[in-house]
Amino acid sequence: MRILVIEDEKKVASFIKRGLEQESYAVDVCEDGVEGQHYAEVNEYDAIILDIMLPKKGGLEVLKDLKTAGVKAPVLLLTARDTVEDRVKGLNIGADDYLTKPFAFEELLARLRVLMRRGTSGTPVLKFADLSLDPATRRAKRGVVDVELTVKEYALLEYLLRNPNRVLTRTLIAEHVWDQSFDSETNVVDVYINHLRSKIDTKDFSKKLIHTVRGVGYVLKEE
Ligand code: CA
Repeated sequence: MRILVIEDEKKVASFIKRGLEQESYAVDVCEDGVEGQHYAEVNEYDAIILDIMLPKKGGLEVLKDLKTAGVKAPVLLLTARDTVEDRVKGLNIGADDYLTKPFAFEELLARLRVLMRRGTSGTPVLKFADLSLDPATRRAKRGVVDVELTVKEYALLEYLLRNPNRVLTRTLIAEHVWDQSFDSETNVVDVYINHLRSKIDTKDFSKKLIHTVRGVGYVLKEE
């Protein structure tokens, strides 16, 4: 899952980025409203964390323009000013939730998880065939076997599990699992798919779940 953080306070932005990366999210940070809006429009984010007080263009204005542009990612507003007016305005324009600074990281994470769950299955544990992944405990299982995953393998599996039976191009996978610094010239996606296969599609299991679509990408499906 890939998240955009639009926040000019460097300390807050890096606190959020570091925390989310430890939870295996890919995170881009923009420090003003204009750049943030551009990122939000050209990339496909799974959620956007948007500060209200921003240089160049305010958060509420950015939010309004993103909604007009048809950006679908859920938006979590950050505000230092706990004024009812800002919050109501933000929610009216289409923000999905808000958080007042200062906040605990756990709180931010909990809110984000709720936002990203909306529109999907509604069940917190992701399942496909005998494969399961629990975002709350970060445990993955194939059948009864616990699967130990690195941060990136986890992110990759989560993305596959949220899009079963859908052919995912390398570009789409890269966009949701890696951040802006990802070099599209590399074969990193294939490398990580192979790591993941070596853990969940081992010879102990008769059915393979990750399939290659030649020249296109990958699909999670039962044969
Ligand atoms: Ca700010």
